[in-house]
Amino acid sequence: MKVYKFGGASVKDSEAVKNVVSILKNDAQDRKVLVFSAMGKTTNHLEKVHLDRIQRRNWQPAFEVVKSFHEEVAHGLGLNGEDLVDFQEEIGNLESLLKQPVSGDENFDYDRVVSFGEILSTLIIAAFFEKEGFNSEWMDIRNVIKTNNQHRSADIDWHRSQRSADVLLSHLEEDPSRIIITQGFIAQSKIGNTTTLGREGSDFSAAILANLTDASEAVIWKDVPGMLNADPKWFSNTIHIPHISYSECIELSYYGASVIHPKTIQPLQEKGIPLYVKSFNDPEAKGTLINETTDYDALVPMYIFKPDQVLLSIRSRNLSFVVEKHLSDIFEMIARTGLNV
Ligand code: ASP
Ligand code: MG
Repeated sequence: MKVYKFGGASVKDSEAVKNVVSILKNDAQDRKVLVFSAMGKTTNHLEKVHLDRIQRRNWQPAFEVVKSFHEEVAHGLGLNGEDLVDFQEEIGNLESLLKQPVSGDENFDYDRVVSFGEILSTLIIAAFFEKEGFNSEWMDIRNVIKTNNQHRSADIDWHRSQRSADVLLSHLEEDPSRIIITQGFIAQSKIGNTTTLGREGSDFSAAILANLTDASEAVIWKDVPGMLNADPKWFSNTIHIPHISYSECIELSYYGASVIHPKTIQPLQEKGIPLYVKSFNDPEAKGTLINETTDYDALVPMYIFKPDQVLLSIRSRNLSFVVEKHLSDIFEMIARTGLNV
């Protein structure tokens, strides 16, 4: 089985969704789980809705932006009344949720509101897949990926998630040609509340599912031709990297390469599942393969450009050297304040 992840840019309008369908039509073998992000900039818009609500401003205009954007995508896909029943129901659920009083726990409220981005996107996409004749099924990922109660950056409960994934697997085995359409980014806490895995967390969701289902490969579809040795936003003469190791990739994303969410690699590495980064604009192109092999890592230098950095120089006042004990004190303070070093 394969796990494919499609991010917000790959489903940013109706043409983009049609392109995803054409990728899947040309790639009909293998059982698949498709993990989708919210469409386009929806998560940002929902963050605005959430802020307006908790700061007691009028959230209605921002909500209307989210609603009409999705309706426009749905209509662009030729979906109407019948096809959109579930979608309309969830839009209604979101609106009635927004009308309820806030809970007093901002992160809890954030997860409840912002998670609708992935729910709405997958309901529209699933309706379109069905219309296009796929043997596909919408699945609520919250029934599989289980977390602790740390809203907005929940930690995975691997044990409980594995138990639920086994149910998913047996379901898939009933019909090997079935495609599952599900959400990235969102999950469920022990007490049944919606949690999220942190911004851009859908890559991580795909990796979690790949791990839980022992997938043969995972593919992240992006608007770039794979990994490059630098961000083309900053550099004009970038070099495509066809092959890179898990460890090099972890290091790159940890230090700020934005191509893949930093938590993505470990669940794949643990099971030796290869990860491909491919372009949804050029699906036939090779993209980048990420696996155990380190043979290619040293061939091309990589550049990471990070704006808004602060250089902090620390020295002692009593003419002593900054040695281990001081370093541990300093890092302890940094960890406490939640800064990234
Ligand atoms: N929709 C979420 C975000 O924009 C998760 C993701 O796209 O990976 O952060
Ligand atoms: Mg995204």
